[in-house]
Order: sequence, then C-alpha cells, then structure tokens
Amino acid sequence: MELHTLSQIVPRYRAVFCDSYGVLRDAHGLLPDTRAALAYLAQVGCPLWVITNDASRPARELAPPFAGAVAPERFVSSGLVLSRHLRERASAGVVAYLGPPSCAGLLVDAGVEHARLVELESLDEVTTIALMDDEDWDWTRELNRIVNRGRRYPELEVLLPNPDLVYPIGDEVRLAAGALGALLGEILPRAPRSFGKPEAAIFARAFELARAELPDLAPGEVLMIGDTLTTDVLGAARFGLATALVLSGNTTAALVEREVERAGVRPDHLLAGIAP
Ligand SMILES: [Mg+2]
Repeated sequence: MELHTLSQIVPRYRAVFCDSYGVLRDAHGLLPDTRAALAYLAQVGCPLWVITNDASRPARELAPPFAGAVAPERFVSSGLVLSRHLRERASAGVVAYLGPPSCAGLLVDAGVEHARLVELESLDEVTTIALMDDEDWDWTRELNRIVNRGRRYPELEVLLPNPDLVYPIGDEVRLAAGALGALLGEILPRAPRSFGKPEAAIFARAFELARAELPDLAPGEVLMIGDTLTTDVLGAARFGLATALVLSGNTTAALVEREVERAGVRPDHLLAGIAP
C-alpha cells in the first residue's frame, strides 16, 4: 500500500475521528508531530473527535496533556461508554475495579457502588469486575484471585473497557488490559464483555456528537485514524467510516502486510505518521 500524508487525504472528508495512543500520544506524552497535525486540522476547518480505549480516568481528564488544542468534550472514551452502560443497567451490587485510583471517577459518574479490587480482602461478595487498566495492581495475585472467584461463582461478570492487547511506549509495546482480559476469557466460565473500539457503541457515540455539529453527515464522510487494525480500523470499517492506519504506534511498517492478512481488514489509507 502507498504511504500518504495527512494533508493528502483529509480534504476528501468532513470530519476526523482520531485514536489517541500511538497516533497523537504515547505513555510519555504527545508525539512530536501532534501539534502540527492539530493545527493543520483547525486551519482547514476539519472538526476532530478523539476516540480512545483509555479507561484509566474520566474523558474530561484526558484533555490536559493536549494543552487546550483539543477540548475536553471532544474526547469519547471507552470508559465513558462503560460508565453509561453501568448507569443504565438494572443490576445492583458492588463493582470491583482494577487500575489506578483515577479510574474511580468513571464509576462515580455511573453512580454505582464501587471498590478498588486490590483493597478487598475477599472477593466472596464480588459479582462484577471492571478491568479498567493494566497499571497499579499485581497481575499475578489479582488474576489468580479472579480465576478462583469465577470457579466458585460462574456468573462473575468481567467488564473490559480497553480490549487493546498492547499499547505503544517509545519504540516498544507493553501488554494492555485487553491482553489480561483475553487471558481471563480463556479461563472464566463467562466471557468478559468488551466496550470501546472495535465495538459499535463508541463509534455511535462519537458519530452522534459529530452529527450534532454536521447534521447531514454520512459515516463515509468521516475519516478514522488509528494505529491498531483490530480495534481502530476494524471497528470503524464496520461502522461505515473511512479508515487510515498510521504506522507510528502498535503497527509497524515491517508488520503491516502480515497484520492486514491476519485481521482480514484493509485500511483505506496508510500514513507513516500524523505530520501534515
Ligand atoms: Mg492506539
């Protein structure tokens, strides 16, 4: 596939949905070309929404690293979709979450009773686990506790708002919450329930926001830019959006053809990076 730049493809579309990690930022902060890309989109008047599987904090807290270049209400996160799901579901009970304490804001927003799983001495009363993030917990200890809770209570529900298997950090990747959820899915009687990309709900929420600004917008007029085929590109293509795979994060130039074959989905465009 031919490599393009942002300014070669954006003029064909009316709105851009953009992934965060691996496209605009990594675990250290914004990527070098992000400011120029955001300035370019603003200059050509192309509205942007950031669609991320980051469930480590409420969507409004994802904006500060962008230093005003992206407004808080333009972030649509899988944590936000999970929060809505919890708010609307009927079943009561404590939601035990895994991840840093900042995850709790999403559960506060959902209005559900919650506890940090690592602080629970026993999981005997736990019926729902929200696997929010890979950080700030001892995987070995807690995964073993969850597996054993599932043996005793087969209805144990695991909610997985970040199905990403890895996330980029510099030139490397690290295992993400989705990899731990996939492992639990192989073992627990009840499969984890995924939120976020590639599921339709997060794209539907973003599209609803875009339609509020551009009422006659069609899905094919939106370009989704992401670094992961199985979440960004697959989910966006199923939703009818145009897609660009960027090679600055999870997918490298050396692996792209192999991964396209494996994922069974081909992006409409290929970008080396986000530079305009
Ligand atoms: Mg990404």
